[in-house]
Amino acid sequence: MSFKQRYIGIINRYRDHLPVHDDTRIISLGEGNTPLVRLSHISRERGVDIYVKYEGLNPTCSFKDRGMTLAVTKAVEEGSMAIICASTGNTSASAAAYAARAGIQAFVLIPEGKIALGKLAQAMMHGAQVIQIKGNFDDGMRLVRQAAEHLSVTIVNSINPYRLQGQKTAAFEIVEELGRAPDYHCIPVGNAGNITAHWMGYSEYQQIGVVATRPVMVGYQATGANPFIRGEMVDKPDTVATAIRIGHPQSWKQAWMAREESGGWFDECSDEEILAAQKLLASREGVFCEPASAISLAGAMRDVSRGKIPQGAKIVCTLTGHGLKDPDVAIQQSRKPLTAVEPRLEEIKALILRAVA
Ligand SMILES: *Cc1c(COP(=O)(O)O)cnc(C)c1O
Repeated sequence: MSFKQRYIGIINRYRDHLPVHDDTRIISLGEGNTPLVRLSHISRERGVDIYVKYEGLNPTCSFKDRGMTLAVTKAVEEGSMAIICASTGNTSASAAAYAARAGIQAFVLIPEGKIALGKLAQAMMHGAQVIQIKGNFDDGMRLVRQAAEHLSVTIVNSINPYRLQGQKTAAFEIVEELGRAPDYHCIPVGNAGNITAHWMGYSEYQQIGVVATRPVMVGYQATGANPFIRGEMVDKPDTVATAIRIGHPQSWKQAWMAREESGGWFDECSDEEILAAQKLLASREGVFCEPASAISLAGAMRDVSRGKIPQGAKIVCTLTGHGLKDPDVAIQQSRKPLTAVEPRLEEIKALILRAVA
């Protein structure tokens, strides 16, 4: 009897495509290898073939882990004793966990009152030094850049090139699972690191001949945080999708290049569209993602109904983070308020009969 080799994270899986040495000490939590789920109901109803890449099933429940394993591995290799990041939540959760794993200190700057509860809990539990600032993500990013100039701490935001190198592996996995590149790849855009990383991954696989084609890259932003749609930076970004509440994207040029080279586009969705897509995905397909993630599906569905994405197309939407990250927003949009009944069979029977009537 033979056993399949145990999966041990993206660096081991994709070593040949990543900047590591044979003797590099790898800091991993088994990230990557996430499910590509075909949306059966939504695909049938809309005449397309839609898949979601469920990145919420990474170790800290967002795609940030793919980049963080490599960023922290390299920081440790280079002798760094501390890492720092600005975050709308998920980067801080991931940085905190991988720093704990490595035995180094993480400092995370978060916007006061504007990060989802689950993400804050993660950063605190993993022992990061959480610094709330009276400002937004963009203020935090500016401070992180300045602090790293004066102190010996490694920045692990997506301006750290190893982050994007790690994140490109999501594109590798999609290609391997579909046996080809999708026609369209729809993705939420905040700092625009992830759209850049995916484009890198698809391009690498095309260059070495794994696939013949690359997808059209389509990036979506929230109406209140939409610098790529306006064509200029936004100073006071606002949206229910806190993970993409960013007005000054760090990978501005690279994301425009991905759009140009792929023949893609940027568009925006309202908070209402985002929450409706999140609910639809959870209630019709059994997949729970956070609001920022749902924008990829909200945008894709609209572009299909407008005919911008043609019937029959094979579409992958990236679901960047898990729905449990942000329980408050999920419960707030639940249709009926929760009430309690007496613990008697008649009460339960009456409720069931009324629901199926
Ligand atoms: C970080 C993040 C994004 C945005 O990704 P960028 O690389 O900044 O464009 C989107 N959704 C979630 C859940 C995130 O954590």
